[in-house]
Amino acid sequence: MTVHKVVIALGANLGDPVAALRGAVGALAGHGVTVTSSSSLYVTEPVGGPEQPQYVNAVVVGTTELAALNVLDVLQEIEQVWGRTREVRWGPRTLDLDLISWDTEVLDSERLTLPHPRAAERGFVLIPWLEAEPDAHLVGSGSVQALVEALTDGIDADVQVMAGERLT
Ligand code: ATP
Ligand code: CA
Ligand code: CA
Repeated sequence: MTVHKVVIALGANLGDPVAALRGAVGALAGHGVTVTSSSSLYVTEPVGGPEQPQYVNAVVVGTTELAALNVLDVLQEIEQVWGRTREVRWGPRTLDLDLISWDTEVLDSERLTLPHPRAAERGFVLIPWLEAEPDAHLVGSGSVQALVEALTDGIDADVQVMAGERLT
């Protein structure tokens, strides 16, 4: 079987976000996704959606033999375990797992768009990703380092490392 590289963004702002993110990373291994590198935990300001609590975000990089759609299945299954519901678009959630990329696949299907269409402009994805993978590239958008620098000269006040807590 071929091994594929995946980048997964994690976020939560209801319940116990740190526990949810740690639980999700732990669950990936049992579902065929091997995490090879992970970022710190970040506290971030919500982007879009209603007024809601701050988020905890992180990014992990890993490998899998699963097809992209099967990775999405796994992510949605883990979200369900953590009580994820979908009510308001971009509303608060106990756990959100987004597949940022699967190899260099470009795809636009009903269930799955790759790379994730909003990753290139999201500091809460790009900044943790750059930490986890300093030479990362986002298909169609170039180096993640350049994307971070394009945010606000590389400084995004809305994305801060969480002090004293680790993802893994
Ligand atoms: P955003 O996509 O802007 O981050 P969101 O994470 O709040 O918003 P969800 O409600 O979690 O959106 O997901 C809506 C749908 O997006 C999912 O049911 C899933 O089928 C679809 N989807 C498409 N591409 C992806 C992807 N790359 N990763 C995760 N979900 C995706
Ligand atoms: Ca999301
Ligand atoms: Ca999502």
